[in-house]
Amino acid sequence: MSLYRDEGVVLRTQKLGEADRIITVLTKRTGKVRGVAKGVRKTMSRFGARLEPFSHVDLQLHTGRSLDVITQVETLRPYGEALVSDYPRYTAGTAMLETADRLTVGEKEPALRQFLLLVGGLRTLVEGGHEARLVLDAYFLRSLAVAGYAPALSECARCGAEAVRAFAIVAGGVVCGACRPAGAAVPSAETIALMIALLRGDWQAADASEPRNRTECSGLVAAYLQWHLEHGIRSLRHVERDQADPAGRRPGGVRDGAEPGAREVWESAQDPHISRA
Ligand SMILES: [Zn+2]
Repeated sequence: MSLYRDEGVVLRTQKLGEADRIITVLTKRTGKVRGVAKGVRKTMSRFGARLEPFSHVDLQLHTGRSLDVITQVETLRPYGEALVSDYPRYTAGTAMLETADRLTVGEKEPALRQFLLLVGGLRTLVEGGHEARLVLDAYFLRSLAVAGYAPALSECARCGAEAVRAFAIVAGGVVCGACRPAGAAVPSAETIALMIALLRGDWQAADASEPRNRTECSGLVAAYLQWHLEHGIRSLRHVERDQADPAGRRPGGVRDGAEPGAREVWESAQDPHISRA
């Protein structure tokens, strides 16, 4: 009755008392869970070793009064082992875990699409087929889209005009000359095209991009993410809850993960974060 199983990715761990740890896990069905792993700091326990950040694990938990207690753990994929020897990939993975933690505000609020995105992102990072920075930027754009904050990239975020000139974080993406607020960045068309490719999962186009466009893209995406984490975090809880996971999604469905959120944002509001706050 008070025992449940789920699979999830370990986001972070904290010390608790002399011997225990609190493990924060983004699970597939339950959402974000904070569970206690008892006795893991006293011995070199295999139990504790399985509960390191990045690990994709199968868990059994006992519902507790405040925190649940982790009673069993099996490793499904130890992504951390593959990442720890490669610094750029390790730091990109760390940023993914932190973002997943920040974008899933409430505990035990199902967030299947964020879970699938995180697993897909870590797997892509470990496979090493694409530059770590590109994988991270793709993950940022898609996790924002799932949370309801996809940037407008092909039409003006404010009026819908097709002739766009600048990228304005506060406006929610690209803007036309008339809507352009002061201080908006003016990225090259190739950089905007790269952002669109990353959001859609068009790796052929993304891998063929120029270094200067990747740098410009990373700067814009990081600033956009930062702005939403600081300004939008309170409303994310509701956005996540409102967006039911469509049935029949492929496991690890990263490729199509961004599209529904993106479309909803563009069709429902010209300035998504204001109308949803
Ligand atoms: Zn406009």
